[in-house]
Amino acid sequence: MLSFLIKYRGIFVVLFVLPASLAFKAYMGARNRLVFWLNSAPENHDAKVKKVQQQVKNWHKETGGNIPMCTARPAWLAMSLKQGNYKKTHYQVDVSLMDILEIDTEKGTVRVEPMADMRQISALLKPLGWSLAVVPELDALTVGGLINGFGIESSSHKYGLFQHICTSLEIVTADGELVKCSPEENSELYYAIPWSYGALGFLVSAEIKIVPSKDYVHLTYIPFKNKQDFIARFSEESLKPFDEAYDFIEALMYSEQECVLMLGNFAETVPAGKTKNALNNFYKPWFYEHVRNFLKQDQAQEEYIPLRHYYHRHTRSFFWEMEQIIPFGNSPWFRYLLGWMSPPEVSLIKLTETQAIHELYDTHHMDQDLLLPLSTLDKSLSFFHQEVNFYPLWLCPMRVFATPVRGMVNPLENEQMFVDVGIYGEPTVENFVAKDTVRKLEAFMREIGGFQALYADTYQTREELRDMFDHTLLDKLRAQTGALKAFPEPFDKVSRAART
Ligand SMILES: Cc1cc2nc3c(=O)[nH]c(=O)nc-3n(C[C@H](O)[C@H](O)[C@H](O)COP(=O)(O)OP(=O)(O)OC[C@H]3O[C@@H](n4cnc5c(N)ncnc54)[C@H](O)[C@@H]3O)c2cc1C
Repeated sequence: MLSFLIKYRGIFVVLFVLPASLAFKAYMGARNRLVFWLNSAPENHDAKVKKVQQQVKNWHKETGGNIPMCTARPAWLAMSLKQGNYKKTHYQVDVSLMDILEIDTEKGTVRVEPMADMRQISALLKPLGWSLAVVPELDALTVGGLINGFGIESSSHKYGLFQHICTSLEIVTADGELVKCSPEENSELYYAIPWSYGALGFLVSAEIKIVPSKDYVHLTYIPFKNKQDFIARFSEESLKPFDEAYDFIEALMYSEQECVLMLGNFAETVPAGKTKNALNNFYKPWFYEHVRNFLKQDQAQEEYIPLRHYYHRHTRSFFWEMEQIIPFGNSPWFRYLLGWMSPPEVSLIKLTETQAIHELYDTHHMDQDLLLPLSTLDKSLSFFHQEVNFYPLWLCPMRVFATPVRGMVNPLENEQMFVDVGIYGEPTVENFVAKDTVRKLEAFMREIGGFQALYADTYQTREELRDMFDHTLLDKLRAQTGALKAFPEPFDKVSRAART
């Protein structure tokens, strides 16, 4: 039954969702251009912020502050595959500010509005020779979502999470006040916003660190047939001091023992005789299948990849999720004939999912990013193998900085290097029951001092979530800024009970 539904879903997606995605992309592109043309920032930014403040004041008048607020962005447009029920009952505030306000190459920062997305920012910065220090991989991820939630990429072993590269933030609080915060100014608020899921106010701008970039990434693929050898090298590379470390580190694990480690550096040009691979061209194999081929080699191999192809290398196949949506999507005939229409928009896929697909995903599927201390990687991989036995796994090292003020996510002492292990697919263990397995993984993460990315399903209770994420500072600031009744706390937005 499952394979039948998936097979027919692929045909449906190709016939209807792919063309609709093309139209949707063209519409959104035109709409964004029109918005810029009619309403272009930076000079209009202050007026747009005043409108947000006015809406918050109206909320006070209209509801007496008795119904919590949320952003008006429809849930189906967000990346998370689960849609929050709260949108239906909460007072919606339009925070659809989507401009890039200022690039300061002296300071090495870009100032943007919260709905600016990765596609837009990387397209603007690349020709100028700059890049965000961390570029979360999928085009449609927004600055607001990445700061209030989480965002990571293969440069996170150097720079940390997306929230760590923000040098200052501006939010509109529950009483309609505009407050700026940074490590130097209102620092408690600055450290409380990451992971808060909008529980403190509406983010209206962020200043983010940029780094000089080059045209290519020189990528070395190192195959491993032994888990211990891989972990030793992965740890060594991840823990190198900032100036000695590779610019990009990522690994894909294809079985309990087989893995390909990828180490990348920015490169100006492709040296004569070296391979250039524009791997995001529509006819090219999906990235993770391309990487799998390096397992057949005994030696490390290298390639030069155009920078934006590298940044968005998992976009066409949504890591390996696309195989479930279009099972024949990586076959040569599909790539050459119809690959130019791919990938379908995640939001349209969500909109067109039937109840049966929802139920199948709920029971047979798992999307989890589990953030665990590097020292526990060996034990964690063994545990995931036993409980889930699904491959490929995505492994990305990430630094979690100990901050002067403790926020929601605090590393254990001397344990600032973490690994994001991404499990996206259908576990192959016998008698898999999604809820039971996820609860086991969650308990394991709490035990080892790890965290769960909350765009995914969380079955934790309120107390368990509070045990994993330190709410001390968030609670204090929510009480101080009148947010308790104005915005739901994270659990009420991300728990299974709050999501369909
Ligand atoms: C298929 C898939 C692939 C993914 N791939 C990656 C990846 O490669 N790298 C990565 O880092 N992450 C990835 N993620 C996770 C992603 O980082 C999170 O979903 C993240 O929260 C960004 O999503 P979004 O822009 O859709 O934000 P949303 O889901 O819209 O927002 C996340 C939270 O932030 C709040 N929020 C948003 N804007 C504001 C604002 N202006 N003010 C106050 N609160 C606000 C929202 O209310 C919500 O609670 C992926 C997720 C999926 C489902």
